[in-house]
Amino acid sequence: MSAAIASATGAVNAVNAVNAVNAVNAVNTASAANAAVTAAAAARPAAAEPPRAPVVPRGIYRIELTRALCKACGLCVAWCPQKVLEADDRGYPRVARIADCVNCKACERHCPDFAIEVIPPHEPEERSR
Ligand code: SF4
Ligand code: SF4
Repeated sequence: MSAAIASATGAVNAVNAVNAVNAVNAVNTASAANAAVTAAAAARPAAAEPPRAPVVPRGIYRIELTRALCKACGLCVAWCPQKVLEADDRGYPRVARIADCVNCKACERHCPDFAIEVIPPHEPEERSR
């Protein structure tokens, strides 16, 4: 091998060695940054849980029946998912468990005669029939 070739080879090897060191340094720097981020996340206080409220307030509605319109078909009783309504001995609906009412209005929507109504709590009492 000539002296010129040997010298060039040495130079290339030196450059490769520098590149290898730089690559290791880059990995170390990235690892240190990741560790810092992880430590910061661990040190951050946990977010306080927001206060939980029922998604659907229960038992704050009134159910009103217009007896003159009701034909005692039982649809409202059958559709109520909460078993709030029961049929009396003549088949007319009566409110048995108002505390379980979730204001879904299934009873009101399925009544073919518009005889039953779900009244929100802000409605005045005078509305009662
Ligand atoms: S509003 Fe819903 S839960 Fe309440 S009585 Fe009517 S069907 Fe039942
Ligand atoms: S669905 Fe209407 S008509 Fe039938 S029982 Fe209920 S309130 Fe009466």
